[in-house]
Amino acid sequence: MSGWVLKGLKTGIRTTLYPKVEELAPGVSPGRPAGGRAAGNKKPAAEACPVDAIAVRDKQVSVDYDRCILCGRCLPPAGASGLVKPAADYEWAYKIPRDTVAAGGAGVTKTCSHSLHIKVVDGGACNACLSEVSQLTKPYYDMHRLGFFITPTPRDADLLLVVGPVTEHMKLPLKKAFEAMPEPKAVMAVGTCALSGGIFGPGFAAGGGVKEFLPVDIAVPGCPPPPLAIIHGLLMAVGRKDPVPSPTSPGPGSGMEAAK
Ligand code: SF4
Ligand code: SF4
Repeated sequence: MSGWVLKGLKTGIRTTLYPKVEELAPGVSPGRPAGGRAAGNKKPAAEACPVDAIAVRDKQVSVDYDRCILCGRCLPPAGASGLVKPAADYEWAYKIPRDTVAAGGAGVTKTCSHSLHIKVVDGGACNACLSEVSQLTKPYYDMHRLGFFITPTPRDADLLLVVGPVTEHMKLPLKKAFEAMPEPKAVMAVGTCALSGGIFGPGFAAGGGVKEFLPVDIAVPGCPPPPLAIIHGLLMAVGRKDPVPSPTSPGPGSGMEAAK
């Protein structure tokens, strides 16, 4: 028996059983603000947020997960007197409905339910999102057991996984990668930067996320999202997890009045 198998048996290191079994091991999720109803003055919660991701209406505090950078300033005990509650789940992905789904994400859901090839493109990320993506192939998360494989060429890919706000220099390569992929194909935006520009954009060097010029099917919020959140998105892309239509906590732009 090889040494690493013996070591695994001795130390009890194992691969997660998610999605068959809910993963409850400590540290698999950094947690994120949950919003919800709160008594008293809600303004400090919004004022604690450096990216205007918190909105309030009446007694309801909501968080825009596309913008939240998980800085934790709104969470107790710092900042906002615990007006925004923490949540430690990790199923953060949601599906973006597309008008024209003749091919696209719906086609991938139908044809790639057992095996999915993923082309990863770094659109100018800080490297933390990429680091979480790289965890997917390590023994603990082992996405190969689920039929998910990373491919170096877009011509073999079913899904384009993009991290980063997409810098000016990466726009053309990203578009070319998307065009080179065969139908059906889907796009998954991973991380706050890929969803809204995050802390980098929009600006003179970086855009406001992948949605600006590619049809995104699956969004995985977080800065960075934990590996299980990315696996949740991949499972949703292939129809093995129920599609979640949008973040449960609506944010600015969704009719909620900002408190600032
Ligand atoms: S954790 Fe998110 S919502 Fe809370 S202050 Fe930081 S960026 Fe804003
Ligand atoms: S979302 Fe956060 S972790 Fe990911 S690339 Fe942007 S700044 Fe880095």
